[in-house]
Formats: sequence, C-alpha cells, structure tokens
Amino acid sequence: MAEHESLEFGKADFVLLDSVSLEEFMANLKLRFEKGRIYTYIGEVVVSVNPYRAMNIYGRDTIEQYKGRELYERPPHLFAIADAAYKAMKRRNKDTCIVISGESGAGKTEASKYIMQYIAAITNPGQRAEVERVKNMLLKSNCVLEAFGNAKTNRNDNSSRFGKYMDINFDFKGDPIGGHINNYLLEKVGGTGGAVRSPMVKGGSESLLRSLHVSKDPTAYSYIKVGGQVKSSINDGADFKAVADAMKVIGFTPDEIQTVYKVLATILHLGNLTFGVDGDTTLIENSKVVAVIGVLLATKEENVGKALLYRTVATGRDVIDKQHTTQEASYGRDALAKAMYERMFCWIVGRINDVIEVKNYDAKVHGKNTVIGVLDIYGFEIFQNNSFEQFCINYCNEKLQQLFIQLVLRQEQEEYQREGIPWKHIDYFNNQIIVDLVELQHKGIFSVLDEACMTVGKVTDEVFLQGLNSKLAKHAHYTSRKLSPTDKSLEFDRDFRIRHYAGDVVYSVVGFIDKNKDTLFQDFKRLLYNSSNPVLKMMWPEGKLSITEVTKRPLTAATLFKNSMIALVENLACKEPYYVRCIKPNDVKSPLLFEYERCRHQVEYLGLLENVRVRRAGFANRQEYPRFLQRYKMISEFTWPNHDLPSDKEAVKRLVQGCGFEHDVAYGKTKVFVRTPRTLFCLEEQRDEMV
Ligand code: ADP
Ligand code: MG
Repeated sequence: MAEHESLEFGKADFVLLDSVSLEEFMANLKLRFEKGRIYTYIGEVVVSVNPYRAMNIYGRDTIEQYKGRELYERPPHLFAIADAAYKAMKRRNKDTCIVISGESGAGKTEASKYIMQYIAAITNPGQRAEVERVKNMLLKSNCVLEAFGNAKTNRNDNSSRFGKYMDINFDFKGDPIGGHINNYLLEKVGGTGGAVRSPMVKGGSESLLRSLHVSKDPTAYSYIKVGGQVKSSINDGADFKAVADAMKVIGFTPDEIQTVYKVLATILHLGNLTFGVDGDTTLIENSKVVAVIGVLLATKEENVGKALLYRTVATGRDVIDKQHTTQEASYGRDALAKAMYERMFCWIVGRINDVIEVKNYDAKVHGKNTVIGVLDIYGFEIFQNNSFEQFCINYCNEKLQQLFIQLVLRQEQEEYQREGIPWKHIDYFNNQIIVDLVELQHKGIFSVLDEACMTVGKVTDEVFLQGLNSKLAKHAHYTSRKLSPTDKSLEFDRDFRIRHYAGDVVYSVVGFIDKNKDTLFQDFKRLLYNSSNPVLKMMWPEGKLSITEVTKRPLTAATLFKNSMIALVENLACKEPYYVRCIKPNDVKSPLLFEYERCRHQVEYLGLLENVRVRRAGFANRQEYPRFLQRYKMISEFTWPNHDLPSDKEAVKRLVQGCGFEHDVAYGKTKVFVRTPRTLFCLEEQRDEMV
C-alpha cells in the first residue's frame, strides 16, 4: 500500500477527513506529527508542523523522487509544491509564487530555504557557469538577509522581521538568471527597548572590535541585555564569519562592510547613553561614548551631542534650537538606533538587488523571462495584548486572504467555464469588507489614524479611538468598549475589536499614534547625511534638506505599510499561487510536544478549516486526458496496453467507470476533473499494485 494512503499515518490530505470539524482536523494533525509526518495537504496547500529535529527527508534521493512528479504521486512534501510551481512556470510559461505563512518560529524560513534548494538542485542540468554563479548569489543573499533581518528588537524575543519576498527569474530553459528581494519590516513600529543585537560582539575579531571600541562582553551593552539577560542567537561566532564572507562574495566593498560594522557598533554605543540634568540643562552623562560615536560616524563629536540634546525648530522666520527634556532625549536616542538599523538594512537589500538583478536578458531573443516568487511572511497574529504591529500583520493577512479568494476561486471558475464543466457555486466568506474597513480612503482605520496624527495640539490614542467610534460605529466588523460596554472580551476603555475572517481580535489603541508617526528628529537625518563617510551619507539622502526646506510631512507608518501591501498583492495577483502554512507545535522547541491548544489556535487563525471547506466544494485535481491515461492505463483492461476507443476522453471514461468513480469525476473538453483526493489516492494505490 502506498504510504500516503495508509491510515496509520493519518490522512495525507485534510480534504479526506470524514467531516470538516476542528476536532477531526486537529486529531489528524496531531497523529501525523507524532508519526513524524510533518507535511499534510489541503488540496494544493501544504500544512507543515515544525519538527524541531533533523528530518532525513531533504536529501538528493528525496529530491529525485519528487522531480517532475504530480502532487498525489508521492507523500506530501514541500518539494512537491516547489515542483508544481516550477512545472507551471516552465511548461506553461506562468509566473508563479509560493506563499509561506505562519507565526515566528513555525518554520517559514527553513521552508523557503528547502524550496530554494530544491529549485537549485533541479535546474541547470547543463552546469552553465553563469547560472551556477547566480544560484550561489541567491543562496548567499538569503544568508545575509537572514542574519540582519533576525536581529531582535523587542523583549518578547520575537523576530522584528515580518516578511520577505524574493523573486527568482528564469530563462527560457528554466534556469535561474537573477532575482529581486523585497523586505517588509515592522522596525519603525517595533517594540520598545530597541534592543538590536549585534552579531559582532561574539563573532568579531579582537582587532575589529578594538577599532569599533566595542567590548567583547555582551553584558556591557544595554541594548543586548534587555530584561537583564544576554540572549544568544544566530549572532554567534561562526555565523558572523559566514555572513561576512557572504557579503564579500556578493560584492560588498571593504568600505561598505566596514560601514555596516560601524553602524552596528554605533547602535550598541547609543544604547549606553544616559541623560541627566544640571539646573535647566539636559546633558549626556557619559560624554566619552559621544566621542566614540563621533569617530564611528565620521562626524564631529559636538554635532553628535547637539543632535542628541536639541532639535531645530522653525517658528515663522526664526530657526531656533530647542532643548530636549531627558525623556525626549532618551526617546530620540532609541528612535535613532532603530532608524539607523532599519535604514542600513534597506540599504543592504538595495545593494543585493543591484547585484542579483537580471542583466543582459533580451526577451525578444530569449523568450519570456518567467518568475517564481517566494513569500515568507507572518500569519495572523494574536497575543494577549495586540497593538499596531498585530494590526498591520493581520491586515496583511486579510489582503492575502482576499488574494486567495480572487485567485483560487476565480481561477477555478474560469477553468470550469473553459472546459464546459457546470459551475457549482462555492459558498465562502468574502473578506473584502474587512480589507475596506482597514484601508479605505477617508473611512478606513488607517485613514482615521492618519487624521488623528494630524490634529493640532496634543494628539492622544484616545482621540484616535474617538475617531474610530464615530466613523465606524455601524460597521459589522468593528466594535469597541464604548460601543459595546457590556461585552466581556473588551476589558478596557482603550480596546477595540475587529472581526477578522479568521476570528475576533481585540486591539489596544495604546501606542498607535506614536508608532504611526515618523519619530526620527530631522536633526539626526542631517547629522548622518553630513557624515564624511560616503556610504553612510548615501543611506540618508533626505538629511540634505535644511530645516526651512522640510515642509512635507513624511509618510506615516500606516500609509507606508498600506502602500507596500497593495504593491505586494498586485505583484502576487498576476502569478499562480501555491501555499505553505507553517505551525509551531510548542514554545520549547521540543520534537515530542504537540501542544493542542497552541496548535488549535494557529489552525484557527491561519483559516485552515475554511480552506478545507472551499477545497472540498471544488475539484481536487484535473489532468489532461492523455496524461491521465499514461499514468493509470494499466489498471483497466480497456486501456492496457492501448485502447481502441475513438478518443482518449472516451478511454478515460471507460477506465473511471471500471473503477466505480463516475460520481466523483467530471469530464471537461480537454481534462478530467476529479473531485476528491481519495479517488486519486485509490488510483495511485491500484497503480502501485500493478507496477
Ligand atoms: P520562522 O522563519 O517561521 O520564524 P524558522 O524557519 O527560522 O522559523 O524555524 C525555526 C527553527 O525551527 C529552525 O531554526 C529549526 O531549528 C527548526 N525547524 C524549522 N523547520 C524545520 C524543519 N523542516 N526541519 C527541522 N527543523 C526545523
Ligand atoms: Mg523566519
């Protein structure tokens, strides 16, 4: 019996469950995890549970098993999805994308690496040197981005990063010729402490650290030991070297690499700055640190001190220096540290893109350059206390769900029409109304937030909440404590609740205003722009403007985020999508523990049951008649070894009748449509018995 059909390991596809209930879904997920089967399908979606142990399922032999196969021919695996995306791209000239989502630690990045490895392994059979070079660059870029993107910025030990999208471009032969990376950061709105961990402290050489005035002792830096303990992570010795080498290979110049170190060191030093008062004057208590920062940033010490203690404000015609309070100065310091990190990261991404972008490819000569996009992005997030970050992430997931609805359902509908199959209406919840609730001009939550940020006078989170209440009181998916005072789940006056497609989430408005504004004082931008280090200067072009020239408000975090999500979805919308949903089984990295509640929660917020429901309503699989025959003709006497029926379509009909599957199959013009995967598995099983 084919392994994927054996019940000992549970159902290989959730669509096969006897009934679609959360209990059944969870029981199957748990059983498979315990049997070491970490992948399960929902149709063409792969659900993956982080095994937290090395699995012997990614080697060369496994790759060979999946190469060129159809999904149902082998047990569920990432490789099958990668192969499906690759085949669609190569055979049908389609741009495709693989969307990988799940919470932090669920295995998204590992999954994206395996997918890339698979693609690297099955391409370039001719061993062309240029293609090998490109592949190497793409893999190395990933290494650099992971290293910098994973620096922790808040106490919860949550990775600050929230999404990464990488396009891989292919030539007409199906070989990689370049790529492009987009990063979606939530750094600007990131957590409080601003604890940027530096890979250097543990991994940097003595002489490097000395040149940066950085001590080898990580406890010396308050940004590293947030919460009293030093955390260790990827930022350790061997990784530091790997990243440094990868940067060199990609083509970063020594000056550029040095600047990256200097920025990281500056951030560490910034974290140690403390402010005090002397009479009316705010001052920096450890001025030696300021001198060090001046050296690292290639700027005068007194300019650093001034930018930290004053802000230049234009009042009418006058320009004056206004002194910070100690509180404002601390706030400015943390904002600077975060902004420097974010800016450096974006600059690194830009430099990588310069290197890996497709060059010298003429579509007129070589045919269409096709793309596989890999998106590694957080799934629905719901914590005890949900704030602006969760709001953004969950909005992103609403957008992705809307895309799923449009692409998958529309695509299906179009294909049924093309093939002349009667269209059966699929009942599903269209979440466009929630997307609108967040992003609609003038009426959506982001607009209300931006408006609140622009109010003159003291802007508070309460003003924002009032705005929401007055504009959205009647919205079916919005409520707040004020509007529903007896609602037990809305505990505080600051709470509002969104009914997301995947469930209800209560958000606290605390911090929304602050996180939405561009919090970096212009003085810092000028300070960095005026550095005599050209690389640093390049990172801060807007510092060129003098105070009187700065009139335009910088875009808010919400607007930037919304724009980047709209662009992302537009990009994905013209591609054929494949999905990987990752689940984290426990919080202690145990390979044995399946924490039921924790997993149930994720299943709910990833919308997996809805997914199964939609899947079951349509056809699980479709294949062109000749292909279907080629694979299964041995199981029927009418078709083996050849049939004498007037067409392949007739032959398939005979074959299906013989097996007793007619009720589960529809015949299109060129393809046979199979409703449930069970039928496919049965066919596979019968085939296994014959061959
Ligand atoms: P995410 O990107 O979702 O935050 P990662 O992909 O970094 O999560 O995975 C977190 C950790 O879980 C990895 O460092 C690895 O130890 C483990 N892990 C994830 N996926 C696998 C896998 N397929 N096999 C073995 N270990 C895995
Ligand atoms: Mg990751």
